[in-house]
Amino acid sequence: MAELRDLYQEVIFDHYRRPRNFHTLEAANRKGEGYNPLCGDRVTLYLRVENDRIVNASFVGAGCAISIASASLMTEHLKGKTVEQARALFQAFQDLVTREGGDPQELGKLAVLAGVREFPARVKCATLGWHTLNAALTGMSSEVSTE
Ligand code: ZN
Repeated sequence: MAELRDLYQEVIFDHYRRPRNFHTLEAANRKGEGYNPLCGDRVTLYLRVENDRIVNASFVGAGCAISIASASLMTEHLKGKTVEQARALFQAFQDLVTREGGDPQELGKLAVLAGVREFPARVKCATLGWHTLNAALTGMSSEVSTE
C-alpha cells in the first residue's frame, strides 16, 4: 500500500510541475473562476462547448500541488464528455474525496486524489477546479469560492 501511495503522489507532483492544458482558451464559450481562501488557490477554467459536448478544456491558476494537479487531471478528463457526463463526473469526484467507498473506476487517473479524504482541509483544494467547472457549466459569471 505504501508503494501505491508513492505512485499516486508521483502522478500528483507530475501534474503540479507540468500542468496539462495550462493556458487560456481563445475559443472558449464557457469560463469559470474559483478561489479557495483557506489555501489561497485560484483557478480560471475555460471550456469550449459544442452541441452539449466539451470539445476543449484548459485552465490557468496558482495554488498548492493538490489544487493544480486536480484541475490538470480534470481538464484531461473533460475533453469529449457531454455536459451531462461532466456533471456526473463532478458528483463522482466529490464522492471520491469525501466518502469511503464509491467507484473510483470511472474516474480513471483522478482516483489518485482519493487520498485527500484523510485530510479534510485539502478536500477544498482538490474540489476547487470542479466547483469552478460547475459554475462554468451553469453559466455563473461571478467567482465561486469554496467557502
Ligand atoms: Zn490548496
